[in-house]
This record gives sequence, structure tokens and C-alpha cells, in this order.
Amino acid sequence: MIDLINTIIPRPVHIKENKKAIRIGSISSPMFRFEHTGKGVVFNEAVRYLLKTFEEKTSVVAPCGKYLITLKIDASDSNFTTCKDKKEAYYIVITDKNATLCGFDEAVAYYAAVSFTQLIFTEDSEIFLPGGYILDYPSFEKRGHYLECRYGSDFMTLEDWENALDYLSAMKINTIMVGLYGCWSRQYDGEFAEYLYIPIKKYPKLQTPRNIKYYSVDQRKWVYKKNVLPTMFEGDFFSEIIAYGKKKNIEVIAFFNSLGHNTLLPRVFPEISAVDEHGEYSKTGFCTNNGKTYEIMFDIYDEIIERYLKPNGIYSFEIGLDEIWKVVGVNKDDLQKETSPFCKCEKCRDKEQGDILVEYLIRIAKHLKQKGIKNIYIYHDMLFSYNLLNKQFADRLKREGVYDVIIIDWWSYARKEKLFEGRANEVNNLFRSIIKPFTGYYHWNMPTHANENIYSCAEIAKHLDFEGIVAYSSFEYCYDYNYKLFAECAWNTETLDDNKGFHARYSLSAFPEDCTNASEELNTALSFMEGRYTKINQPKLSLNTIQVAIYSKTQNTRRTTRQSNFAVCAMTKKNICPILGTLSTKHPRYIIILIVLIHPIFVKYGS
Ligand SMILES: [Zn+2]
Repeated sequence: MIDLINTIIPRPVHIKENKKAIRIGSISSPMFRFEHTGKGVVFNEAVRYLLKTFEEKTSVVAPCGKYLITLKIDASDSNFTTCKDKKEAYYIVITDKNATLCGFDEAVAYYAAVSFTQLIFTEDSEIFLPGGYILDYPSFEKRGHYLECRYGSDFMTLEDWENALDYLSAMKINTIMVGLYGCWSRQYDGEFAEYLYIPIKKYPKLQTPRNIKYYSVDQRKWVYKKNVLPTMFEGDFFSEIIAYGKKKNIEVIAFFNSLGHNTLLPRVFPEISAVDEHGEYSKTGFCTNNGKTYEIMFDIYDEIIERYLKPNGIYSFEIGLDEIWKVVGVNKDDLQKETSPFCKCEKCRDKEQGDILVEYLIRIAKHLKQKGIKNIYIYHDMLFSYNLLNKQFADRLKREGVYDVIIIDWWSYARKEKLFEGRANEVNNLFRSIIKPFTGYYHWNMPTHANENIYSCAEIAKHLDFEGIVAYSSFEYCYDYNYKLFAECAWNTETLDDNKGFHARYSLSAFPEDCTNASEELNTALSFMEGRYTKINQPKLSLNTIQVAIYSKTQNTRRTTRQSNFAVCAMTKKNICPILGTLSTKHPRYIIILIVLIHPIFVKYGS
């Protein structure tokens, strides 16, 4: 029998269970029916979700019978008296005679439906519900993921994105930041790693085509393609993603980086790039004392706002501004050259780097606020490294009239003792803030987890009463465990399980038929995924069990990189599946560490 406490992820805050299985019919003879009272786009989606999921789990197509299941919205319901300050509360009561699912508003009616459908269970064609009562509400107002634009997610179709939003909304995620532009140095296959996911109509030259290769399982050969553009760019469907998210109570937020992580703009428009010590345009970095820089940035922001955000009623924008430092491999003309993003023109060269950053962000924030943006997310790292996240800076933002719209996005992916470079005690709530833990990374790398990091970040965010917790993520279903653990930390810090407790509950909810074995297998998988973010203690895998063909090596130009990443193909008896590996260059004999994880995106597009 399924019990209430162990079944729902994220775990509800208040649960009373009576350990009673209530039979509501069988597949051939259903004895239940549905009623709903409420309205709104999200409520309609809640009803659809309830009926669809019930049908999938029970195979009952046309339910009819005495047992009444009601979904409704009622903010004045007495069940909410004890949690009046919680805007997103819902309750579920399951008795012998009926089940009631009630949301404070339509958004939480959706979550009531999500939780309820996790409770249905069948045994020998009989359909049951566990009796009991749930009163539930989230710890954080904003719960979400930043979905990185990078190798892999650039192939995602609109349907893939919709499926991703379905999947994440069922974990009560309500915030998704979508990377629309991001870049790194020369990486995969020696190509420039730049990803622009939307066409900017005013500047059609802004494109990020790249060459790809993959092993086709169907064709049994390598396939090479040139000048492939991101699927979202070609289909221009970012607006459709936002609209779909709204139905699922998810705010889809645009992310577009500049200063750091932007090689495209200064290369396409050298006249806005940082001037070097010889007075030449460096084609990297930005001059922030150049009117043309703001003209182009504002044009891009405005187009995103007017074409995608405003028509969908979205007023949030992440502008990044992280990792603005010297890097190698960003100048296409000279890949080995280390270039500074900071300008050395007459107007810029005597300014402090912190001042340049602050002046730029205030100017951008003022523009975005004037365009109606109410939430402007900015990464904390550069401001933190210049020791600027203090009262003086808060006062400056107030004087400039942008304090109310700026949200500091505090990110750190390390384990507890190394969180925020050992400065976790300096993280503060002088500003509107969210925290950004890490749910995993796979881009031509060994899939990883940093689940201790999620706990540590949630603890800080709870202590400082942050608005939200939004993970740094690469979308990939193999991170189901990480995503669900994150969802639990984002939803319920009041009765949060420890790692061990969550592990047991996850095993039971995901693999109820063989929970014990599943739990052991999970331990193995997680120990493989435990990367540099926790203790490095990789299990060894015998290479005799599989034949391995290394098919490519990244050409990361950062010479300090400790590990080179390999994507490899494992040829098993039945099939060929891409697996990912890491080659440690520290070890004299080069140890290849492998993880056999079927990679849905690669498999899908590699066939
Ligand atoms: Zn300058």
C-alpha cells in the first residue's frame, strides 16, 4: 500500500494519515466520478492534468460512480485559516466517501491535482486511494531552474520544451529561466561554444551556426552537419514556450548575458568592443563608455521584451553579468591569446573595474525598468568579489531608483565548506535575493550531482528569507533524482528530509515494485555522478565489460583545466549508446572514468 508521507515528492508540509486503503473501483468497474468548480487557464490545466493522469494510472476512460472527487478553488475555506500568510496553499482530504482537492487559488489547485495523482495506486486491477489529510504550501515564492543554452539543449524542439515544462511543473517548479544567449571559449570539437537561441530581427547578422557530428545508430555511421543553428532560433518559438509555461503556473524568464560570457556582440560589432592597450578594437569585451554599446544592448533587450515577454505578460529578465575576467580562447583571430573584457580607451582606462560594472548595470537596469520590467536578476559573483554587496550599494540603487527591481542571484555550486568561496557567512539579504545551487551538468562531461550543495544553499536561503531558490541546470531527464531533491528543498524546508530519508522515499516512489534493489542501484549511480562538487571518490569500472571507442576530445584552451572531457561510444551486444567519460590528465597513466548513462537527447538526435 502507498502511504501519504512516502509517496509525494516534494514532501507535503502537514500530513495526517489513517493507514487505510480506500477502494474506489476496478479498471472494469470504476466507482468514482469527478467534479470541478473554478476557472482560469491554470485551473483548466489542473482539471486536464487530473483527468489525464488518472486515466493513465487506472486505464479508466469514462469514470462514473458514487465516489466523488472534487477539485475546487476556495480562498475562504477554513482549512486555510492556520496558514493565512501562505499564498500558495492547498489541501487534500480523502475519506471513505469522497476526496476533496482545494487550492487557495488556481495555481495551487494545479499542485493539489499533481499531489493527488501521485496517491492513486492499483493492485490486481483494483483502484485505491490512501485515506488521510494533507495541508501543503511552499517555503519559497520562486522555485525554479536556469536552463543553460549549450550543446544538447540547442537541439530541443518546442515539443521537448513543453515536455520539460510538464515534467518540472509536476515537481511544483514555477520559475524557468531560459538561456537565450550564452558562450564559453573554444570547446566542443574545437568549435566556438556560442549559443543564440532567438533571432534578433534588427540585427540578422547575430547568429551562432556550428558544425556537429554524431554517430547515427540507424545509419551505422558518423554524420557530419555544417552550420547548424539552434532549433529554437530556427523555429523562433520562445514565445510559445512562455505561453505554455503560463498554463503550468511557470514564469518563463529571458536570460541574455553581456560583459562576461558574450563573445558574439563584440565580434560582430567591433566598434563596441573593449579597446586594447594599442588603441585597437579587441573584438572581445565591451566599452561601457560608448553610446553605441547601449544602443545595441537596448535594441536587443527591447526586441526580447516587445516580441516575447510583454505579449505573454512576463516582466522578468536575467541579465547575468557574471565571470567578467581575462580568458583564453575567446578571440577567433588569436585563440591562444588571453584577453581582458575591460576597455582601455581614454574614458575607461582609469576607472575601477567595480565602478565600470556598477555604472553599466545601473544604466541597463534603468532602461529595463522604464520598459516595464519588474524583476531584473543579476549574478552576485562580480559584485561580491569587488565587495560591493553592502548597504552603501543598496543605498546607491535606491537613489538611482532601481533598488526595487533588482534581484541578486547568489550562485555557488560547491559543497558546504567551500560554498561562496568560503565566504558563505557574508551572503546577505540587503537586496531582493534568490539563491542558485547546482542540479547537475553533462555537456560532454561526466553527468554530475552536487546534492549536498542543494541542501546547503536551501539552508542559507531559508535563514535569510530569500524570495526563491533557482538552480543552475542543464535540462536532462537523467537528473531526475537531482531535480526532485531540489524540488523538495525548494518546496518544503519545514519538514525537510535528510539525504538518506530522501533517498529512501525516492526509491519507493520511483520504483515501488523493487524498492530495495532500486535503492542500491541508485547508490551506485549517484557515486559515479559524485564529481568535484563533493568528495572525489570515483568507483572504478572494468573496461573489459565494454568496448570503448573514444570519438572526440574537447579542445578546451584553458591550459589550467585539470581534466579533459571525452564523449565515448560504448558498443554493447545489443546497441551502441553514447556514454560520457572523463580523462584525468593528472594521473600519469590516464585513468578513464566512465559512466554508462543513456543520454536521451543524444540518443534521440543521434538516430
Ligand atoms: Zn572604453
